[in-house]
Amino acid sequence: MPLMSPEQYKASLRDGRTVYYRGERVEDVAAHPVLGVAVEHAAIDYRMAEDPADRPLAVAEGPEGPCSRYYHIPRSADDLLKRSALIERATALGGTLVVLIKEIGTDALCALHLLASHTDRTKGTAYLPRVQKFYEHCRRGDLAVAVAQTDVKGDRAKGPAEQAHPDYYVRVVSEDREGITLRGAKVHTSVSVNAHEIIVLPTRNMGAGDEAYAVACAVPANAPGLTMIASPYGSRKGNEFETPISARHKMIETLTVFEDVKVPWERVFLKGEVDMAGPLAKTFVEFHRFTAVSYKLPLVDLFVGASRLMAEYNGILRANHVRDKLARLISYAQICRGMAREAARECKVVDGIAVPNAELINIAKLHFAENYHQALAWVIDIAGGLLVTGPSKEDLDHPRLGELVSKYLGGAGGVPAEDRLKLINLIAEITTTDFAGYQAVLAIHAEGSIEAEKLTIFASHDARASVEYAKKLAGIGG
Ligand SMILES: Cc1cc2nc3c(=O)[nH]c(=O)nc-3n(C[C@H](O)[C@H](O)[C@H](O)COP(=O)(O)OP(=O)(O)OC[C@H]3O[C@@H](n4cnc5c(N)ncnc54)[C@H](O)[C@@H]3O)c2cc1C
Repeated sequence: MPLMSPEQYKASLRDGRTVYYRGERVEDVAAHPVLGVAVEHAAIDYRMAEDPADRPLAVAEGPEGPCSRYYHIPRSADDLLKRSALIERATALGGTLVVLIKEIGTDALCALHLLASHTDRTKGTAYLPRVQKFYEHCRRGDLAVAVAQTDVKGDRAKGPAEQAHPDYYVRVVSEDREGITLRGAKVHTSVSVNAHEIIVLPTRNMGAGDEAYAVACAVPANAPGLTMIASPYGSRKGNEFETPISARHKMIETLTVFEDVKVPWERVFLKGEVDMAGPLAKTFVEFHRFTAVSYKLPLVDLFVGASRLMAEYNGILRANHVRDKLARLISYAQICRGMAREAARECKVVDGIAVPNAELINIAKLHFAENYHQALAWVIDIAGGLLVTGPSKEDLDHPRLGELVSKYLGGAGGVPAEDRLKLINLIAEITTTDFAGYQAVLAIHAEGSIEAEKLTIFASHDARASVEYAKKLAGIGG
């Protein structure tokens, strides 16, 4: 099958899936006034494959002809670097918002390949052929794939089997000759309303007693029993002048409810092997954090570019404190970029798949997340209070008010008020609007919490040489 066109993608989402928005069933997500913005945003992926300028990056040579580069399993550092460049480019076209309809699904598919081969080798199971078959189905169909990993979790201090009710983690309630039956709910599932397939992964380590919860599988988005309740966050529709990013770009998360969803055996990739749940969750996250840092790059670049331009517009570019803040913003952006590239270059190849360096990519993600709000403070400081007090598009278009706005809100060196306000509104989108709030929560929580990143850094760093060095300098142990 050839690559899907943007129009085919949008039409393919009319498949009877059960999506609710603000209490109402949505029959056609592509035609919905809010969800449709997310579908248009996602279609960037398919448009890139058709655009001669982006096609060399977006399309790779697959075993059966051209396929989306996301479905090219990374075999080397170079493959990871190209994958990162593709994610960065797609996100730049998305106005700093990641597209994600193939990024996250292929992160999961890479992890599933690795864990299925390991499980088959060590336990005599036969998961790998199922993973390969499902992967080929997605590649051949050029499909959009969401990942439902995060369970609703209830009491975080308790494991899946210890919760107040048995459905706080998605579980297998029964099985028969055809397959398994799933019950429970995942939360924060991005792009599910506009994906074709949803990969279900475990979210944590599990132990004896958690067998029913140690499950990984794939479910079509229109599977009977699957209900997606879309979040309305950021649904206030703004115009392109006041909200230049969010008027055109959006990602939707859902509470994804499995009410006895039947999954045939050929789509079950883990069932009951409790000791593999944690490693699968962790392996997915290592790929996904590489995706994450790659998609943060357009945003951190915009911090630099927009702040510098604003400094010019406000006549403060020569001020020492402004140059100091711009230098720190540049460092913030370049450390993220450099660390992502280094994590690719320092990858290790396991069973033929290039895995980004876990220590380096977690350091990159931690650096991004922990310094995010400080970076925002520098951007806000340079931009000034107009971020939340500026006039509207209607004022600018009004004959008399427009004259007043133009007279009083111009910038240094004759910069017209309209240009200055356009830039202010762009900066507001990444610092003060609903979209900025979404990006801020995404920065802290998406792809796993800050604490999870620290744990991984601690666990993956080999400190033996530095400990020996300390001992030697201290004169310990002769
Ligand atoms: C915009 C967005 C998009 C996302 N997209 C997806 C997606 O597509 N698919 C998906 O599966 N997930 C997705 N996520 C989920 C994301 O991975 C989680 O938000 C993240 O793992 C944190 O989980 P949580 O939100 O349940 O918060 P919590 O786990 O409740 O974390 C809140 C705090 O509690 C702490 N905490 C939690 N448990 C413990 C514990 N046992 N001991 C000590 N401290 C603890 C955490 O460290 C943190 O400080 C998305 C999240 C966001 C915000």
